[in-house]
Parts: sequence; C-alpha cells; structure tokens
Amino acid sequence: MKLSARTLTNYILFAFLFSSVCMIFGRTAVKLASEDAAQVSVQSESPVLLIDPGHGGEDGGASSGEILEKDLNLTVSRNLADICTIFGYKADLTRNSDTLLYDAFDDMDDYGGKKKTYDLRNRLRMAEESGSSLFIGIHMNKFPQESSKGLQVYYTPNADGSENAARMIQNYAKTYLMPWNQREIKSATSAIYLLHRIQMPAVLVECGFLSNPEDCANLTDREYQVKLASAIFAASSEWLASAP
Ligand SMILES: [Zn+2]
Repeated sequence: MKLSARTLTNYILFAFLFSSVCMIFGRTAVKLASEDAAQVSVQSESPVLLIDPGHGGEDGGASSGEILEKDLNLTVSRNLADICTIFGYKADLTRNSDTLLYDAFDDMDDYGGKKKTYDLRNRLRMAEESGSSLFIGIHMNKFPQESSKGLQVYYTPNADGSENAARMIQNYAKTYLMPWNQREIKSATSAIYLLHRIQMPAVLVECGFLSNPEDCANLTDREYQVKLASAIFAASSEWLASAP
C-alpha cells in the first residue's frame, strides 16, 4: 500500500507519542533501541504479529448504512501492519483484499454453503502455521441499543499471555482514545470460533460499535483509524517486550 506523506507523518507522530509516554513512565513499550528486539522482529522469518481483518468478500460483517465492517477492519489492520513495518516489526495480514478466505488453501472442490465456516477454519490454520507471537483479530461491533459504545478486547483462554495482551490493548485504548470506556476484557467462549480453538496467544479487538453514532463517526475517520492502530501497536509492542 502506498502511504501519503500526511498518513506517514500521522503514524510516526502517534507511535512516537505512545512510545515516549511509556518511556517517561519507565516502561519498555517500544524497544526500538534494543538489539534484542531488532533481532526478533527483523531477522526472524516469522511475523511477530499476525493481523486478521475480520470478514471480507460476500461477508460484510456488521454494517451501518453503506458502511461495512469488513472495509473498516481491513483499513485498521493495514494501518497496524504499516506501523509495525515502520518500527521494524514484521507483521502479516491474513487478508489484504476484499475477500473471504474459505479457499485460501485450495483444498476442496466444493465449499458448498459453508464458506464462512471454512473461512474461519483457514484463518485458524494461518494463525497456527504463521509462527507469530501474537494473533490480533480486528472487528467492529453492532448492537440493537444505539447507546452501546466503546472498544472491547476478547482473548483466548488457551494460551498464556493472551489475557495480558488483551488488558494492555484495552488500557491503551482507554487511556489515549476513550477515557470514558468502562468495558472490561473478556475470555472468549465457544461463540468466538477462532479464539475458542486457537492454541497461541490471541486477542480479538472489537474496535467500537457501528450502531453508535459517535463510535461510527470515529471509526470511519482516517485520523482516528491511525490513532486506533497506534494504540493497538503500542500495547502490542509493550506486550512483546514483556513476554517471557
Ligand atoms: Zn466481526
């Protein structure tokens, strides 16, 4: 993806803002100066992060009028991957176009009426074959009551470190984007196919509610999308630095 000068400036500004704040408070958020971190992130073949933009293709996910979750998921995920690249972290996306992934491994002749099932199965397979340290699913929420708003992070109960990663992302978002947000992280149940089955550190970020006008306006704003990705990046890099 080609970055405009303004977008690039935004990335760097926000990412430096977050890393500077963490340094000031004596935390090791973004280990740019660390040779260890550079070795892990740049020289390793495996991505440090595998970012999964939810839905795609014929599965738009949640919507608000013409606004489709699948498109916002991809935008925020690309922002996050770009910021990772700028800071020397290798990050991969499960999809980088508007498509479902049911035939990603081309392993069947007929996917029948189960495209969404196979799509999730393949995302799980991609995660487990990626060798990455952390899987981050990016989604947008929707609820019948318009008043529901705010980011919320889910984590898999199957792998140590997932809960901590979720807490860091939730806290960064609360601190820098939405101090009013009282939502708490949640362990995924069987209702979340991927997190219920995955056996590596994994979180799913429900970035906000398309059914809430304020959240929806933010989530479709380019500058907010960069801030959101920066907060997720800063939390992830702090998690990576603190992971055993
Ligand atoms: Zn979704």
